[in-house]
Amino acid sequence: MKNNIWVIKLGGRLLLHNTWVESLMKVIKLLINKDKLIIIVHGGGPQADDVQKKMGIPIKKINGRRITDVDALFVVKMVYAGSVNKDLVAKALKHQILAVGISGVDAKLAQVTKRPKKLVVNQATGATEKVDFGYVGDVLTINKDMLEYLLRGKYVPVIACLGVDGKGQIFNINADSLATAIACQIGASNLIFITDVNGILKQKGSTKYFQRLTLKQAKKMIVGKKITDGMIPKIENVEVALKSGIENVHIVGALQTYSQWSDALIKQTYGTVIYGENYEG
Ligand code: ADP
Ligand code: MG
Repeated sequence: MKNNIWVIKLGGRLLLHNTWVESLMKVIKLLINKDKLIIIVHGGGPQADDVQKKMGIPIKKINGRRITDVDALFVVKMVYAGSVNKDLVAKALKHQILAVGISGVDAKLAQVTKRPKKLVVNQATGATEKVDFGYVGDVLTINKDMLEYLLRGKYVPVIACLGVDGKGQIFNINADSLATAIACQIGASNLIFITDVNGILKQKGSTKYFQRLTLKQAKKMIVGKKITDGMIPKIENVEVALKSGIENVHIVGALQTYSQWSDALIKQTYGTVIYGENYEG
């Protein structure tokens, strides 16, 4: 089974665009026909924001990261494991992909522990604050037996980024971190983050992106503030993935056509490939 497993993480903003998702599904079907075993992990941040607004629940964020208080948790459970997950499964089924929608809660797929309070420089105020992110979990273990069971049955797990702790409390998880933990523990050959930018941009706001980057270069970009916001946890997870033996991690943006998607995923001709050359660690 090893060496054949591809973990594909889909960002929430990408999922708002029907045509992108449709053409991506066609390529996933192609990969399945080539005997790849696919695991999809997804976020749903913008969709949760939308529902919070509709329900009049204030959105609390620091540096673009959600503070998941009890009301926000109520929303992310229903949005991630509910509407976003089922819509994605339905789109996969339309392309004859045998998708099974679950979350990290099911069969304790992702056992987590509450993220400890963190010192954060608030980009809005410049002040350093100790932030409690609320019900946000860090992954401890993955139930890979359950995933392997599904993969053996030729099912495609579609996993919403929630997890559960030992006491039965549900937590929100960063979807990049969940995808990475799954890829590492199941021994995936490929880890792909599909996001809303074309790759790692040379500067924020620029359209030019790197095709290949070492982890060392990417980490320097974080220090130099050329990589910020949601791209930071991606790079942190790239490091975890490379350390665990995944050869490279591919960060790619949404593409319009089937042939672009297929070139992107199979030939890595779009997006940024981060690899471990010169990696010291
Ligand atoms: P996702 O839902 O895919 O996880 P995120 O918003 O968490 O998306 O992360 C992607 C975002 O990272 C981009 O939309 C962009 O605003 C931000 N970002 C910051 N620095 C960079 C960079 N150098 N290159 C690309 N994206 C960057
Ligand atoms: Mg993100």
